[in-house]
Order: sequence, then structure tokens, then C-alpha cells
Amino acid sequence: MKSLTEHVPVTTHEREEIIDITRQIDAIVQKSGITSGICIIFSTHTTCSVTINENADPDVKADIIDGLARTFPRDGHYRHVEGNSDAHVKTSIIGPSLTVIIEHGHLLLGTWQGIMVCEFDGPRSRTLAVHVQGE
Ligand code: ZN
Repeated sequence: MKSLTEHVPVTTHEREEIIDITRQIDAIVQKSGITSGICIIFSTHTTCSVTINENADPDVKADIIDGLARTFPRDGHYRHVEGNSDAHVKTSIIGPSLTVIIEHGHLLLGTWQGIMVCEFDGPRSRTLAVHVQGE
């Protein structure tokens, strides 16, 4: 059993932004030399999450951001004094982590799937913890 943990910096440029990081994650899998196992991607933040969705049409990313903004408006009624409650709620809805199977030395993703960082209170410097384990 082998394992590798890396911290991946991600710079975001908008308050709300979805960024494809599939290549960076796959590079860590390659570096680990693991051909069969799992890859865990974890966001160490309270207003930034990770998801898997379509990476072909950029409108999908925009629709996710817009749909969440309609459901959890920035100027809605919240208690948290920091004024970024919409970002906290969106982050919890999307979730802090992913587990992806590694098969034949690569991330097992569907043709149209990409691993994405979801920024909800940027722009900021973010860090993802990535742990690869297997043989
Ligand atoms: Zn806050």
C-alpha cells in the first residue's frame, strides 16, 4: 500500500467561480505511482467546496452558480454577521470533499466529468488537500 498527500494551491479571480482542476489532480495521481486505489480531494475552507460535473460546456458552470444564487440569494435574510452566509450555505450544499476511484493509473471519470473547485466568496487563495492511496 502506497500513499501520497499534497496541498494544491488554487487562486480564484471572482466572488463566485467554478474552476476545473482535473489535470492538477491527475498529475498527483501520476506522481504517486498508484495504479489502483482512491483519491480524496478535500477543501480546507468554509466558503469554497469541490464537485464533479460537466467540463465540456462552460455554460454548465455558469448555470450551477446562477441556480445556487437564485436558491440562496446573497441579500437573503441571514444571521451571520460576516455577511457571507450565502457562501457558507452553498459550500455546505455542494460539500467539502470528493472520493474518486483510481483505475489503471488514472482517475475514473466519465467522458464529460471534471473535478472542480467551487469558489463562493472570492477572490482568494485557496488550498486543497489531496490524498492518494492504493497500490
Ligand atoms: Zn463567514
